[in-house]
Amino acid sequence: MKVTAAVALAKGEPLVIQELILDAPRATEVQVRMVASGVCHTDAIVRDQLYPTPLPAVLGHEGAGIVEAIGEGVTSVEVGDHVLLSFSSCGVCSSCVSGHPSYCIHLYDLDFGGARPDGSTAFTADDGTPVSSHFFGQSSFASVSNVAERSVVKISKDAPLELMGPLGCGIQTGAGAVLNVLRPEAGSSIAIFGSGAVGMSGLLAAVVANATTIIAVDIVDSRLEFAKTLGATHTINSKDEDAVARIREITGGGVNYALDTTGNKFVFAQMTKSLGVLGHGALVGAAAPGTEAPIDIGSLLLTGLKISMVIEGDSVPQTFIPQLISLYEAGVFPFDKLVKKYDFADINEAFADSESGVTLKPVVIF
Ligand code: NAD
Repeated sequence: MKVTAAVALAKGEPLVIQELILDAPRATEVQVRMVASGVCHTDAIVRDQLYPTPLPAVLGHEGAGIVEAIGEGVTSVEVGDHVLLSFSSCGVCSSCVSGHPSYCIHLYDLDFGGARPDGSTAFTADDGTPVSSHFFGQSSFASVSNVAERSVVKISKDAPLELMGPLGCGIQTGAGAVLNVLRPEAGSSIAIFGSGAVGMSGLLAAVVANATTIIAVDIVDSRLEFAKTLGATHTINSKDEDAVARIREITGGGVNYALDTTGNKFVFAQMTKSLGVLGHGALVGAAAPGTEAPIDIGSLLLTGLKISMVIEGDSVPQTFIPQLISLYEAGVFPFDKLVKKYDFADINEAFADSESGVTLKPVVIF
């Protein structure tokens, strides 16, 4: 069938909206008509080829839509179901079977490989050129896409599909790092470095967990002001003041939990220094392979602190995302405040607004 897609044709270039041919869903694939898709930094990183998914490619990995057809062997959804799309995983490796699919040993191939495991792509250009598909198992920047069943999360028909997509990656990442990995106790303290979509999701999750000292650190005042409206009890502009000293002052010796969403090696070092004894920090911000952070292992040894490297909030999307939707519906996880909607035709504007910081979480509507 003919579909309309935003195609990454060349490194660093804006996406081009064009018609492509989509093949029929294969075994264990779900054909989804997209209603909306979030735009994430990882889409921009791959458009710019920091990760070498072969171009041309249909990117997009925060899709939400309606099941149009199912391939052989699909059991989790039926035609007409409303679905949200997350990352893909193999389902059989030791990480997957132990409940940690974001550490699937095949994650890179399944999510960034640009093709099915047999090497075929779901999309073809008019001139017969194969176009990379199955980005994060889904390639959601297309009006219809063939999605790996492992990426599909069935949701209630009452949930607003136009809003739900970002739960599949950015929101799940920040919220999951806090709720699944750091697990702050009620009354504890947490510092969150970076107040973008991922950091703000972590902040909302810290509020859900009843952390009572929630410190947002960023270098942009407007983001810090916004963080206060979401529940930050303290904010620090680390361009203007020493974040480590201020956090240690606020908490009287160091914070219990910390999250680095920047991927900046100096911020990572700040995070380790801001933790108190037996503190737990987590990194979710992406840095280029080869990045090494300067941390003082001599002093840190005495503190007993823990550092976790966290992918996709260490979530099982099929269980964690419905929990986040329940929290949203209960009014205690207002992630909709992060979202701004764009027409699909304006997808490059959505990318630009995300990169400039104008918009926290753009969502394109089909
Ligand atoms: P974003 O750009 O919207 O937010 C980053 C924030 O960090 C911005 O507000 C920026 O002002 C702030 N910042 C930059 N430098 C800083 C510094 N030196 N000190 C303090 N703050 C600083 O990005 P996002 O959408 O929130 O994503 C955050 C990161 O998470 C990205 O690197 C993204 O690729 C990554 N990510 C990781 C996963 C995962 O599974 N681990 C999943 C999704 C996204």
